[in-house]
Amino acid sequence: MTSDSSSAASGDVIRASGIHKTFDKKQVLEDIHLTLKKGKVLALCGPSGCGKSTLLRIISGLEAPSKGTVELNGTAINRKALRHPSIRGRIGFVFQRPALYPNMRVLENITLALVEVKKLSRRQAEEKAYDMLHKVHLADQIHAWPSTLSGGQAQRASIARALALEPEVLLLDEPTSALDPELVHEVLEVLRTLAHGGTTMAVATHELGFASEVAHDVAFFDQGRNIETQATRDFFRSPRSPRAARFIESIL
Ligand code: ADP
Ligand code: MG
Repeated sequence: MTSDSSSAASGDVIRASGIHKTFDKKQVLEDIHLTLKKGKVLALCGPSGCGKSTLLRIISGLEAPSKGTVELNGTAINRKALRHPSIRGRIGFVFQRPALYPNMRVLENITLALVEVKKLSRRQAEEKAYDMLHKVHLADQIHAWPSTLSGGQAQRASIARALALEPEVLLLDEPTSALDPELVHEVLEVLRTLAHGGTTMAVATHELGFASEVAHDVAFFDQGRNIETQATRDFFRSPRSPRAARFIESIL
């Protein structure tokens, strides 16, 4: 399971190499190489269907690549490794739609994995849950049922739940795209604070304003290929590819 620790030594939390993915003979990712450095935010951008979600799912171990490897701090990960208690919880994932367990209050949504995976005592888990909810400005909803939360609140609770496990990296798949427009900013505000606090993140997003402000680097995809990756400022000022230039123009 453990490979050499060259990526850990270089500060790469995630190193994806030569990732290919085909679904029913259709190639949806082609030879993707991507690294994510500790404390940095990488934005994954590109038109719908370009492969952002599939790539995030592969990096998180939810999906297996057809070819290629993913390393987390120097440890090769795959679906089998991810079921191992030593790896579980090391990668946090926030989905497009908030995915809280509907039959549990917000508190239990967060404490569940803390008790079962992290083996915290109930009291420790509850303290941790409170701290995390405080961080996402949701401490007052600790005893609420998920169905009573707004979309923005539910998404912030999902972020709190992922963060409670103290993952080495947080992956977010268009975390605001399912929200009513007036609720988007409250989730982006939380992500902005996390980024400033040094949380390592990869976020698929169409919020280019947010990406340009918060991300350190932008990886642009089209039709399953990583067309370019640049420092954020350079990407928005002078995209290398006409395809990225058109994409930026169409959204801004
Ligand atoms: P994005 O998140 O950038 O919109 P996706 O990763 O969701 O892109 O999809 C990339 C391509 O892979 C699309 O053509 C999509 O239809 C296809 N795809 C994604 N998941 C599956 C699946 N489970 N089975 C078949 N095709 C899929
Ligand atoms: Mg997607």
